[in-house]
Amino acid sequence: MIKIEKSNFGTFIQNLSADYSLFAPVGEGQQSAFREVKNAEQINTHIQITQNSPKTVFLPQTEVLFEFSGDDIQSEEKPAKPMFFWGVRSCDAKSLNLLDKVMGQSKQRPDDPAFQDPYWKARFDDAIILTLACNEPASTCFCNWTGGSPFSKDAGDLWAVETETAYLVEPLSEKGEAFVKGLSGYDTASEKDKQSIAKLKKQAESYLQPAVDAETLKEKLPQTWEDPLWDEVSAKCVNCSACAFICPTCYCFDIQDEGKKDKGKRIRTWDCCMFPIFTKEASGHNPRSLARERVRQRVMHKFRYFWEIYGESLCTGCGRCVRVCPVNLDIREVAKQLLEADSAA
Ligand code: SF4
Ligand code: SF4
Repeated sequence: MIKIEKSNFGTFIQNLSADYSLFAPVGEGQQSAFREVKNAEQINTHIQITQNSPKTVFLPQTEVLFEFSGDDIQSEEKPAKPMFFWGVRSCDAKSLNLLDKVMGQSKQRPDDPAFQDPYWKARFDDAIILTLACNEPASTCFCNWTGGSPFSKDAGDLWAVETETAYLVEPLSEKGEAFVKGLSGYDTASEKDKQSIAKLKKQAESYLQPAVDAETLKEKLPQTWEDPLWDEVSAKCVNCSACAFICPTCYCFDIQDEGKKDKGKRIRTWDCCMFPIFTKEASGHNPRSLARERVRQRVMHKFRYFWEIYGESLCTGCGRCVRVCPVNLDIREVAKQLLEADSAA
């Protein structure tokens, strides 16, 4: 574990930005997001959790996949430099791994590019993610429900803790090992530094509410299919889709072509299962025309369907949907109510 003194942080960041496109949390008035930065002054590591997650860099809200003119097709899949993400919270680092299961498919189908999104892979495969432990989780955080923790080392290439005077950094992956080996001039963390980590961890965990067991919820969900509770919880939903657009693990998109017959572009844009027309078929039939069906789908996908395919929850407990919902539809409360519901099997 190496120690980057805060007094050296500016130089560390400047050196990094020479070799990488460096992304970090940046405050923008009331908002915050991961943006490309050139120096340490631009970085705000005290944002508990950015409004927009790092997903927006790897899977942008709107992107031109390619432009064509006659037979000529132009596409920029690969970033000019590999990307380095400083200060990703553990829930967001986990979100990127979950998205990689869908978009990258490197583990499921390593030899089958037909199932791998080249745009995602070109950005994600070479990127280095530094996971920064959360010293002060927000009141909306519930990573502990889905196997996470503010100091989790389960995702990312590097893991860091901010102490009063320094960042303590250790590698988590081969990419992280190679990165740390390439650094010189930094001290190794002392025993006293390591003890301070244990103290910060304990304090961070005390901010979280007791966990609801997501695995029990997964087992219970099929029994709730016809429960009137879905009518109750969805009654106030206004179908704005803010919950899905802000979510670090939602990945649905639409593809549109713009232009004329022999000149134009193909554009990918996020889409969302909370929109009433998301599932409308060409015949006019809509299998999820009611809010209850859409809210149920969202909860089922996060806590059941994804688990059935990939073995874990698609919710990382980042709490963003709790913060942005204009009618206070709180996914934690829905989960608790479902667990308590006396639904018939
Ligand atoms: S469902 Fe809500 S809490 Fe869970 S990952 Fe998405 S935005 Fe975060
Ligand atoms: S943010 Fe709230 S109101 Fe908007 S679609 Fe999601 S649950 Fe419904």
